[in-house]
Amino acid sequence: MSEAQPSINPTQSEMFCVNHPNVATGLRCNRCGNPICIKCAVRTPVGYRCKSCVKNQQAVFYTATPTDYVVAAIITLPVAVIGQFFGPMLWFFVIFAGPIVGGLVAELVYRANGKRRGQYTWLVVGACIVIGALPAIGIALLTFNLINLALHGIYLVLTTGAAVARLKFGK
Ligand SMILES: [Zn+2]
Ligand SMILES: [Zn+2]
Repeated sequence: MSEAQPSINPTQSEMFCVNHPNVATGLRCNRCGNPICIKCAVRTPVGYRCKSCVKNQQAVFYTATPTDYVVAAIITLPVAVIGQFFGPMLWFFVIFAGPIVGGLVAELVYRANGKRRGQYTWLVVGACIVIGALPAIGIALLTFNLINLALHGIYLVLTTGAAVARLKFGK
């Protein structure tokens, strides 16, 4: 009754993904040389790589320590609190003040962190700017002044955008 099972006998030329032993592949990670399937391959500017190689590379690229994130928050929060109170008072000039303050915060954080890069520094700084803005925005909400609220909104968006852009995409 038993039918002959097709034997799984890969020829030497056939490779199987290191993470998925059932998936045949012709792809290798161009760093460690491990065979990887399409699911496991990460396309990088230098070719296909396995996830662990990409991860290792990022770990080298991002050198921030946990303290750096705390320092980033300590620097950002007071600037965000004060800036959100006074920035919108500049009326039209918020469109300049926002990006300047945002860029300045990013630069301060970057320098205070010893120019180390953190994978999540942009997130910490961005979140702290928004959190720091809450008291001033809360007060502005009580005034029900639409122009004032709009100025607060514009200032917040520009500051956050500039800081995040600088930390995420800057040199
Ligand atoms: Zn690899
Ligand atoms: Zn795979």
